[in-house]
Amino acid sequence: MRTQIHELPGASAGTTRRLRSLHFGRGASGRKAYLQASLHADEVPPMLVAQALSERLQLLDAAGAIDGEIVLVPMANPIGLAQDLQGAACGRFDLATGTNFNRHFKHLTAALVPIIEPQLGDDAEANARVIRTACAGLLEAWQPASETEALKRLLQRLAMDAELVLDLHCDNQAVLHLYTGTPQVAAFAPLAGYLGAQALLFADVSGDEPFDESVSRIWWELAAHFQGRFPIDPLGCLAATVELRGETEVSHDLAEHDADALVAFLQHAGHVAGTPPALPRPCAATPLEGVEPVTATSQGIVVFSKAPGDWVDAGELVAELIDPLTDARTPLHAQVSGRCFARSARRYATRGMRLMKIAGPTAFRSGKLLSL
Ligand SMILES: [Zn+2]
Repeated sequence: MRTQIHELPGASAGTTRRLRSLHFGRGASGRKAYLQASLHADEVPPMLVAQALSERLQLLDAAGAIDGEIVLVPMANPIGLAQDLQGAACGRFDLATGTNFNRHFKHLTAALVPIIEPQLGDDAEANARVIRTACAGLLEAWQPASETEALKRLLQRLAMDAELVLDLHCDNQAVLHLYTGTPQVAAFAPLAGYLGAQALLFADVSGDEPFDESVSRIWWELAAHFQGRFPIDPLGCLAATVELRGETEVSHDLAEHDADALVAFLQHAGHVAGTPPALPRPCAATPLEGVEPVTATSQGIVVFSKAPGDWVDAGELVAELIDPLTDARTPLHAQVSGRCFARSARRYATRGMRLMKIAGPTAFRSGKLLSL
């Protein structure tokens, strides 16, 4: 294992922040997988999973089981990790700008087209190399305007030439679930199976350029753009966001389970040698456009009647809001049938607050599909 320390440009006099990337494998095959933990820095479970995963990858590396390279960033956001605001961890948004740390990565498709067009040919593998080199050049040319942009550029550069990228997060209160691009759903069904995910959500574009889409979407967009002219693998980079349950679900048992599942998937995908364990049956994939964000139609104390993991039928009561000023009680009913996979950890709602997510089977939403 090789460790690289990356220093971010300080945002203010006397401060610098660091993160590290761990590099496993001999690098002989040219293949690469990339995993990072806790881009939303107040989502702690991924950082413990990364500890367990690193132990496993060190043993596999020593045994010669990693022909290519596996890169693990066990703590992806030192800026957010230090945002402690009067006792509350604030790791989701950059306090300086209000920007979500997992939005506004660079979407490169439009800039790539004129650069790669004169270099493409009949060989899909050669075309993939052309695309990866051009991506590296564009990210190299990106002049970050802030410490946070420098972090985003660093993470995107570390991941951009990988064939597999897993961005490890968690939700407020949740069962394990995954987000990925529509063309990649079948490729990630085994990961959903190994992890025991209860929702596998897909979208062509979720909006505002989250990290996983910044490295994967270019491939199917370029494949479509050059269709019939140059062969490009639409799945040149498989990328998913993995939500490792709720934010307080930090235990060695869970971390070891998840690290074992990640290794099994790395074996399944050919990044680690060896036969993966038998694949458990994965959950059904459902569209992100089919997720109902149950929203508070009134203000009040939140009393949930459904929990993550519960099946919900359309019309069923999922929560009640009790206004402490008027005593008014407002029942909230599900609009769709599906698996409740996440809910808020807060128990007082302001009007319009999103309280619960239910994975329905039928697309009905459009526009920006992710929460703030
Ligand atoms: Zn997150």
